[in-house]
Amino acid sequence: MQKFSKLLCNTLKEVPNDAVIPSHQLMLRSGLVQKSGSGLYNLLPLGLRVIQKVENIIREELNKVGCQEINMSVVTPSELWKESFRWDELGDLMLKFTDRSGRESCVSPTNEEAVVDLFRKQVNSYKSLPLTLYQINTKFRDEIRPRFGLMRCREFVMKDAYSFHENKLCLDKTYDQIHSAYESIFKKMGLDFMVVEADAGAMGGSDSKTHEFQVIANSGEDEVVISKEANYAANIEKAMTQRQPLDFDESLDNLTEVSTPNQKTMEELSVFLNKPLHHLLKSLIYISVKGEKRDLVQVVLLGDDNLNEIKLKNHLSVDEIYPATDSELEKSGLVKGFIGPKGTPIKCFVDKSVSATSAYVVGANKQGCHFLNFIPDRDGKMSPVDLRLAKEGDLVNGATVSIKRGIEVGHIFQLGDKYTKLMSATILNSEGKSVAPLMGCYGIGVGRTAAAAIEQSHDEKGIIWPKAIAPYHISIIIAAKNNPEINQLAEDIATECEALGLECIIDDRDVGIGFKFNDYELIGFPSAIVLGKKWINDKEIEVKMRRSGETLTLTRDTISDRLLELIK
Ligand code: ATP
Ligand code: MG
Repeated sequence: MQKFSKLLCNTLKEVPNDAVIPSHQLMLRSGLVQKSGSGLYNLLPLGLRVIQKVENIIREELNKVGCQEINMSVVTPSELWKESFRWDELGDLMLKFTDRSGRESCVSPTNEEAVVDLFRKQVNSYKSLPLTLYQINTKFRDEIRPRFGLMRCREFVMKDAYSFHENKLCLDKTYDQIHSAYESIFKKMGLDFMVVEADAGAMGGSDSKTHEFQVIANSGEDEVVISKEANYAANIEKAMTQRQPLDFDESLDNLTEVSTPNQKTMEELSVFLNKPLHHLLKSLIYISVKGEKRDLVQVVLLGDDNLNEIKLKNHLSVDEIYPATDSELEKSGLVKGFIGPKGTPIKCFVDKSVSATSAYVVGANKQGCHFLNFIPDRDGKMSPVDLRLAKEGDLVNGATVSIKRGIEVGHIFQLGDKYTKLMSATILNSEGKSVAPLMGCYGIGVGRTAAAAIEQSHDEKGIIWPKAIAPYHISIIIAAKNNPEINQLAEDIATECEALGLECIIDDRDVGIGFKFNDYELIGFPSAIVLGKKWINDKEIEVKMRRSGETLTLTRDTISDRLLELIK
């Protein structure tokens, strides 16, 4: 039976400096974790209990759908990563090192290559498929900006699963099963989450599915585009929405140059010319990088739209894109602030929401000048592509969307045969032919999920744990000094509750009752039993419920059964 006096847990009154979001502050303040370096954390006893509960819920649900648990080495040799070209592609995200024999390795940031290697050495027939393997172990990603505690750290625990299939039908079936298992996992943890369509990057073919599990919270780093009415939810990176109907400028007048000195932003220009922003076109110049090759790309959008860089990168199928710098613009003879699509020598894409036959204001590629009446079909050479970033109020199937912030706790992805092909993993299919099996991969950030639970469930006093992942369910607060009867009562109640599956910690510390009470609220155990005056005077027991804040008076004979009902 855990006594608080012996628990390694020092709670903090003050908010640590570098912690800006509630989950990070509260994990540190309630003694769940301790920072050991940049993006590195030690899990202390209470934190580890939470993490283990998250892991066990994941295990239980994945085992139910036939996934098999393995544990692969955390360090993986460079040879495997070179087979998939990711040794170079992932670059500095990987923590690479050379050992005493001169072998290059890395601390795995993910394990597709390792699992394909394991698979090709173990399996050679369709008869062993479908096969889904998973592990819960350490990953390392040298994130550029580690932040928010366990939410985005460098070393973290991930559940990663990989499935292998003879055909797409089989992959789809497993994908759907794991999709449902994920829903059960996050529901069990009491999380308010959404499943959203995600960006498949250049890898996803047209029939490759990928979804993210997003916990809706203000501190989330992702943006999710949602319409309940249209039954639509997508990561903004992927979202394809339409603008609300626009009035177009139907002028057929000739292209006319106007002087627009110092009108450098769209907003300034809109005021100066007395035209709405959506009658103006903005031109952006990007550099695309593929291997050694660098190209200029021009993008044309309505004046009040923004570019979705992921869409552009996917459309171009390149390794990277970035906005051209001032000196790169200058070198190419482009005039910053006045760039336009008329006669541009650069490969130029126009967003689909720009009308091909309406008149727009565009930059004239000349200092202090714009053109009026630029009609894309008549005056330009541009290919229409969906490139704009979705925004609040856009439409999907006629319904308006809203945008919320989300924390990506899980991600499922149909990989197809990318890795099995690159690494020559084959099986004999049911027709006796040697083929590369299809794969799916499925991740959950274990620590990030625990952090997301806190983001969604806390108040100004501290964490409010859902029962399923609370470090303990009940804090039994001893509120009488040196009282053997009370001490014995605490142990008896704890034994009784634990027999019902309610985990108890006895707060027997030699500190004031207010202090114990604050810690119970800070750490966020679902309930507290206070053993003090009420018992001594009236033989009644005071019980507090953390979520509702209620105080109840219970009797000795029914206390454990009542708590079992009350703690949800
Ligand atoms: P992000 O976009 O947030 O960087 P990702 O898409 O790169 O994440 P995946 O490769 O899909 O991440 O990894 C699977 C899961 O691992 C994620 O859904 C997330 O929950 C978790 N995860 C990824 N990076 C981190 C990190 N730096 N710290 C904690 N958890 C992480
Ligand atoms: Mg992801």
